[in-house]
Amino acid sequence: MPYIFELKNLCEELGCGFLTEEPLSMHTTFRVGGCCRALIYINSTERLVKLLSFIKTNNVKYFVLGKGSNVIASDDGFDGVVLVFGGDFASIKSEENNELVCSAGVSLKELCLFALERELTGLEFAYGIPGTAGGALFMNAGAYGGEMSDVVLSAEYLDEDLNLCRIDKAGMKLSYRHSIFSENRNYIITGIRLKLEPGSGEEIKARMDELLHRRKDKQPLNYPSAGSTFKRPEGSYASLLIDQCGLKGMNVGDAEVSCKHSGFIINKGNATCSDILKLSEKVIEIVKSKTGYVLELEPEILK
Ligand SMILES: Cc1cc2nc3c(=O)[nH]c(=O)nc-3n(C[C@H](O)[C@H](O)[C@H](O)COP(=O)(O)OP(=O)(O)OC[C@H]3O[C@@H](n4cnc5c(N)ncnc54)[C@H](O)[C@@H]3O)c2cc1C
Repeated sequence: MPYIFELKNLCEELGCGFLTEEPLSMHTTFRVGGCCRALIYINSTERLVKLLSFIKTNNVKYFVLGKGSNVIASDDGFDGVVLVFGGDFASIKSEENNELVCSAGVSLKELCLFALERELTGLEFAYGIPGTAGGALFMNAGAYGGEMSDVVLSAEYLDEDLNLCRIDKAGMKLSYRHSIFSENRNYIITGIRLKLEPGSGEEIKARMDELLHRRKDKQPLNYPSAGSTFKRPEGSYASLLIDQCGLKGMNVGDAEVSCKHSGFIINKGNATCSDILKLSEKVIEIVKSKTGYVLELEPEILK
């Protein structure tokens, strides 16, 4: 790759971690995927702009990754650069009027604990979702009756020309697992402003503990996965339909429909991306023919 050496030098200059031929299985919660040409840890917006200018000038393919918890990486890897937000790009500040401002790479766990420390309520639903704030806004992640759209006020992002833009919630087109960012893959979220409410620390902690307990009880957290494999179809639940069709335990290689939670496909050890996608296709086909519902994959495929 002619650009690799120049890119490596640029990363050294900027102080950004740089890895070549890095297995994506190490950076995604499904633990599958071949290598990317380069993986760079992003640690500030300024440096991100410099890297993206190089990447765009040289027509290099790139993909923005948070914690990789909603991504299935191809067995063939990715012939381009993966920009990882889930590391040092993670500051949180508390501001007036119960607002928090965080960078996109902060983990939801850290963000929830930060809010708890300040006795701010509203983010409890996100405790246990293993992603970054940026990845969560991109997907409008949600659980147990809450979602990012309930707490987000505005965001900063880089547009395709690398202008730093600000957008209010109303412009974000947030709906079920959808946002303006998932519509425009050239937009990169760099920061998020959230509005929470004053609450009781004890009650916030109790709710967070309760939700984490429910996750451990219901979800196969001891196996790699990307969480719910399918989006919730209008009028039903993916896990309910999969259950009704008797698909628990169905497998392709080491990819298996979890017996604990049929909405999850899990990696029992050596599953490949291809195993997961073949199994997903089978599930979609059977559910469609038996119930009429058309399931759709929730995670992004990185290829
Ligand atoms: C065990 C488990 C449980 C889960 N439970 C839930 C749940 O309850 N609810 C739920 O909604 N999800 C859940 N998920 C899925 C996942 O954790 C969320 O969707 C999470 O928000 C993804 O964040 P991430 O940082 O890992 O994003 P990634 O998986 O790294 O990326 C997801 C997408 O977001 C894009 N993206 C990431 N960061 C940015 C950025 N800064 N700017 C632009 N685009 C960006 C990526 O390019 C990619 O397309 C679960 C996953 C697992 C493994």
